[in-house]
Amino acid sequence: MNKPKIVILGAGYGGIITTKKLEKLLKANEAEVTLINKHDYHYITTQLHKIGAGTAPDGKIILPIEELIDNEKTMFKKATVNSIDFEQKSVSLESGEKIDYDYLLVALGFQVETFGIPGIDTHAFKISSFRSSKAIYHHIQKQFSMYQEDNNPARLTFAVAGAGFTGIEMVGELVEILPKLAKTHHVPFEKVRIINIEASQNLLPGFDQDAVTYTTNLLKSMGVEVLTATKILGCTENVVTLESGQIETKTLIWSCGVRGHQLFDDAGLQTVRGKMVVDKYLRIPSLNNVYCIGDNSVFMKDDQTALPPTAQVALQQAPVCAGNIIAAIRSTDLKAFEYRHQGSVASISDYFAVGKVGSFFIKGKFAALMKKVIEAKYLYCLGGPALIVKQLFNFQSSPVKVSAKQSQ
Ligand code: FAD
Repeated sequence: MNKPKIVILGAGYGGIITTKKLEKLLKANEAEVTLINKHDYHYITTQLHKIGAGTAPDGKIILPIEELIDNEKTMFKKATVNSIDFEQKSVSLESGEKIDYDYLLVALGFQVETFGIPGIDTHAFKISSFRSSKAIYHHIQKQFSMYQEDNNPARLTFAVAGAGFTGIEMVGELVEILPKLAKTHHVPFEKVRIINIEASQNLLPGFDQDAVTYTTNLLKSMGVEVLTATKILGCTENVVTLESGQIETKTLIWSCGVRGHQLFDDAGLQTVRGKMVVDKYLRIPSLNNVYCIGDNSVFMKDDQTALPPTAQVALQQAPVCAGNIIAAIRSTDLKAFEYRHQGSVASISDYFAVGKVGSFFIKGKFAALMKKVIEAKYLYCLGGPALIVKQLFNFQSSPVKVSAKQSQ
């Protein structure tokens, strides 16, 4: 009898942990598992801002997939998914190859939401993948070198759009790295501007007031210009246009929201900003044996509220999804997914952080330590204590070759 084919799209948080759980739970020869990902490395998405700023070596953020999975149990394919034919149960790859499935997990993560604002797509930098983040790093380095030639102040003005989780974390890294770059390039740091632009009334929308006040005061004390209640109308290579005026800058880092992967819209399915609503078992109800987790899914916590697109959600969904795929193969009962919020901590450079663990508000150096514990916990999930130790002593600059031009 043919073994059922399980195909997993995306080796981010959701995809890789589901794969590892399947490796653990499936009996020998019970199913054939194929994992497909654009690159042959897994990146730790929650730390991409460090790649953008250059505050962490590449080797700490990207991990070769072959070293994370059991190659005897999972077939890994480095490929870009172009489209899915849900009727034919077939995935089309950029190479033209088609991969058939009996059970499919779509875990392709997010795409950047530009809200159609002119210039953002072309001129703003995005923290959406390892390569796009690396492009930010190369660009910042270039601005300092070029400033020495043309003294254009727009080169030393760094604007981050969005003061949610990701935006604040990016600003924090800039605060850490830019004084060092200024020193290296013999540029007085007083000439460097870091501007954080947020459309809402406050930084960190959705966080408690304690966290908002702490973060606002901390960033201001670090010299960041905080512009809240400020909408961006557009940008070019040299200027960001606000409702209230213009900022001359060659660096706008866009961090204002995410949407799901384009391929659901391309398949003519009904989406919520590119994301698929899933049922309590993490399946797409209108399709047969198709599961979807992480940032390209919408899981309704109740009638009104969807879970946010976070690593925490993807990581909790992954083992339940693996269990449910196996239950479907074995014709046993599926388990409903129940989310347990454990808190969230946003880093502000390597030295400070802010957030909540359980019901406790935490801030400062203690919160920064908690953030490191959370990061270590993920490494433990991925590769046990050996991976934690390996990453602790990993000062490799880049285990993969990335050129400044490659940004996807
Ligand atoms: P991802 O982890 O994004 O993985 C998607 C995978 O699919 C990637 O490997 C990608 O290469 C691959 N892929 C995409 N398209 C294709 C294609 N066409 N073909 C093949 N492969 C493809 N969340 C938290 O809970 N806590 C945090 O502190 C936090 N900090 C963050 C900081 C930053 C800078 C960012 C950007 C996000 C942060 N998040 C945080 C959000 C969190 O990273 C995401 O919610 C999480 O990564 C979602 O996991 P996922 O598996 O859905 O997608």
